[in-house]
Amino acid sequence: MPTTVQAHRPTGFPDGGRAGYTRIMQRVTIKRAHAQAMFAEDRKLCWCSTRDKETGKRNVWMSCDQGHWAGLGNDNHTIDKSGNVSPSVVCATKGCKFHSYVTLQGHRPEAPTKVTINGKAIDIYLKTMSYDQAMEYAGIVPAPGCSITYKSDQAQGILAPGDTVTVVDGMIINAMFTGNA
Ligand SMILES: [Zn+2]
Repeated sequence: MPTTVQAHRPTGFPDGGRAGYTRIMQRVTIKRAHAQAMFAEDRKLCWCSTRDKETGKRNVWMSCDQGHWAGLGNDNHTIDKSGNVSPSVVCATKGCKFHSYVTLQGHRPEAPTKVTINGKAIDIYLKTMSYDQAMEYAGIVPAPGCSITYKSDQAQGILAPGDTVTVVDGMIINAMFTGNA
């Protein structure tokens, strides 16, 4: 059942808001949808997440009650532990009147894995790291004579071109150019 919250009417509201005007605005709970189906179907009031292939970072999307999709969790919105999105969501599609507080059902915050690469602390959102990705984080152009070592409580070893390693908290990665053998 949706809960209602008192919301201050934002200035510049399309239908001419008055200063100090308050209205009852509903908090809508939005169900999760499968990412594969999200753009293919005209789904209303649902959310899903996708993962950036480059950074491993999660992008969250939601649809309004008219089925317009928008990205969340960027610089404009934050999502708390319970999935409550703040501030309220205004649909960016021209002519759409959707404006509501939303809660993403089943949303769990994602904590980064903390690793150290060449002495620098870095937050990683990838579950595994490839040789090329480690080189990129270290700022080294992959070339013959480069070597990468990794060490954590669980494992240690050498990362060769084409290899990937599971990233765990506290992992120390060192990438260096050791010269052509
Ligand atoms: Zn809309």
